[in-house]
Amino acid sequence: MTLLEKVQALGAAGKWDTCASSASPRKVQGGDRIGNVAASGICHSFTENGRCVSLFKTLMNNDCSYDCKYCQNSAYCQKKTYAYEPEELAKVFMHLYLGNYVEGLFLSSAVHQDPDESTMRMLDAVNLIRNKFNFQGYVHFKILPGTGKDLVKQAAVVSDRLSINIEAPSKSRLAEVTGIKSYDNDIILRQKWIREEKIPSGQTTQMVVGGSGESDIEILKAAEWEYDTMKLRRVYYSAFTPIPDTPMEKAEKTPYEREHQLYQVDFMMRKYDIRLDEFRDILEDGNLPKGDPKMHLAERFFDQPVDVNNASYEELIRVPGIGPQSAYRMTELRKNGVKLTKRSELRSIGVVLKRAEPFLKINGMTQRRIIDYAQ
Ligand code: SF4
Repeated sequence: MTLLEKVQALGAAGKWDTCASSASPRKVQGGDRIGNVAASGICHSFTENGRCVSLFKTLMNNDCSYDCKYCQNSAYCQKKTYAYEPEELAKVFMHLYLGNYVEGLFLSSAVHQDPDESTMRMLDAVNLIRNKFNFQGYVHFKILPGTGKDLVKQAAVVSDRLSINIEAPSKSRLAEVTGIKSYDNDIILRQKWIREEKIPSGQTTQMVVGGSGESDIEILKAAEWEYDTMKLRRVYYSAFTPIPDTPMEKAEKTPYEREHQLYQVDFMMRKYDIRLDEFRDILEDGNLPKGDPKMHLAERFFDQPVDVNNASYEELIRVPGIGPQSAYRMTELRKNGVKLTKRSELRSIGVVLKRAEPFLKINGMTQRRIIDYAQ
């Protein structure tokens, strides 16, 4: 087996983990062509200030002793197995880094013999990268379910971000896809240990959407709990996709629209500080209705349009087409005695008028009566 085969196979095997968002769904035609980042294991993540960084995202090993029904690496799936030696992985990563192909590492693994054995091999690789090759950049380290506390602490020392995937929103939902992993002990307890550590880019997790028959409200409740209790930086949602030769190969694929809607609600919970309770009114049988959740929320929230010069910040951010930045700018202008009287003024501070107008009064008028000659 050549090193290039390992790079390709272990990079491709890691693509189902979305804990660092990889942008484009575009397909590259033909296996040998350049530019297929998903196949070679390069993904993109975003820093706090919005800068896009490319990461070498790979598994250390794809031969898992666990039994997750949707996973091609599980013990019950026929597969060709690959594993890096720590020195090999460190050299591949440094080659990509020094060649300016990537800026950081996102390292995960199947649980080969047991979680500690696999984690120690991952740590050996990262320690080589840090100490032998003196790499000071970004490392995202995946904590494997069931990993010992001392190894979690060691991973925290060499990593910028740690994550462990909860996969499903509750103990009972996880039990539908695995008979081995314990939700409380193997996952939630490890999240608590991670929370105790000082990790520069914090902790994240991922849930598989539609993998265990769960509803949107179950997923969002779990996400809210993760943000409140575990102080997570991000929860990632990954639409379930059936993979050939797994026990769930015939299960229905989850539409990407569902994943997208969950991200929209998640964004509003994190950035607008809107509690999940507020979304309960728009749910239908525990699921989000089709379309933009913010638009549905606004239709319920506003009995009548609000005046752009009197509405509170909390009201403004609930208007579709107005985000936290434009709502902040509007309230700041008001503090300085500036009155907003023209649609063009709203547009210039970032309001998307087409979406916002049905919920706003400008100069005491709703959209149908506005005649703005100064656009
Ligand atoms: S723990 Fe489950 S999801 Fe992770 S590699 Fe093993 S079988 Fe796959």
